[in-house]
Amino acid sequence: MARIGFVGLGNMGGPMARNLVKAGHEVAVFDLVAEAMTSVTGASPAATAADAARGAEFVITMLPAGQHVRDAWLGAGGMAAASIEDAVLIDCSTIDVDSARAVAASAHRPFLDAPVSGGVMGAEAGTLTFMVGGTSDAFARAQPILAQMGRSIIHCGDAGAGQAAKLCNNMMLAAIMGVTAEAFLLAEKLGLSHQALFDVASKSSGQSWALTTYCPVPGPVPTSPANRDYKAGFATALMVKDVGLAQEAAAAAGLETPVAAKALELYRRFAAEGGAGKDFSGIIEMMRG
Ligand code: NAD
Repeated sequence: MARIGFVGLGNMGGPMARNLVKAGHEVAVFDLVAEAMTSVTGASPAATAADAARGAEFVITMLPAGQHVRDAWLGAGGMAAASIEDAVLIDCSTIDVDSARAVAASAHRPFLDAPVSGGVMGAEAGTLTFMVGGTSDAFARAQPILAQMGRSIIHCGDAGAGQAAKLCNNMMLAAIMGVTAEAFLLAEKLGLSHQALFDVASKSSGQSWALTTYCPVPGPVPTSPANRDYKAGFATALMVKDVGLAQEAAAAAGLETPVAAKALELYRRFAAEGGAGKDFSGIIEMMRG
């Protein structure tokens, strides 16, 4: 059993913290929203992030974006000032690579960037994939804790490598979902049923996670967000954030990524037309319109 501080208890952080409580750890939690803290039964609510971190062996953050993470660790009264010399700091948020490296360089403690894939369903089931950047020593210490929230824990390299992997992964996902949605719309026009396209493509070279786990039309995969009017799941606003970060990273590296640029343009339009809070696979509705 370990003492763990957990900061940021939203759609993802809430179920992740609950899994750590279930595994028998002593968990202190902090969120700006008080109800988010009481939703983690068995954890101790703290008055500040630094209070949640105090005395912890592991401190985990799951926050919206880079600025929140910089503030939580390095800002006035941030956790870097808390006396947690022996703790391993683990940021599971999806943020820009520069922020991850800046916090790692200034934290003066072992720090891992460990963003996740698998969505809210994966967070609840404890089956997330963690992609981790940081030293081998910090990774070895954190691995058993991450394994209680996830199924695949992958060490990607030094600080920032976890975020780099996450941005590249979500850039692929954004474009693949977009073209998968277009293929279902083309099938409709050609008189081919959704189920027939699914049956063929899921066993052919068009196969992908976007098709077989997250199918953008209702029916073939009963658990996909399409079956619940694209509610919950992975919000389009977050996809816009992630592909935007990938585009910024590509631009900074002098790399042209026109396919991802087009995907970002489409998700931005969907978000602006009312889809920001819907699952990103709902982009098929905008395309159909
Ligand atoms: P969310 O908005 O549901 O939760 C964020 C939580 O952080 C909120 O409860 C908010 O009150 C809290 N918060 C914000 N600033 C804070 C601060 N300074 N101190 C303490 N608490 C603070 O977001 P989410 O869906 O849980 O996503 C969190 C991160 O995980 C994001 O970076 C997102 O991109 C990433 N992610 C999300 C999903 C998903 O499917 N939702 C999947 C993979 C990765």
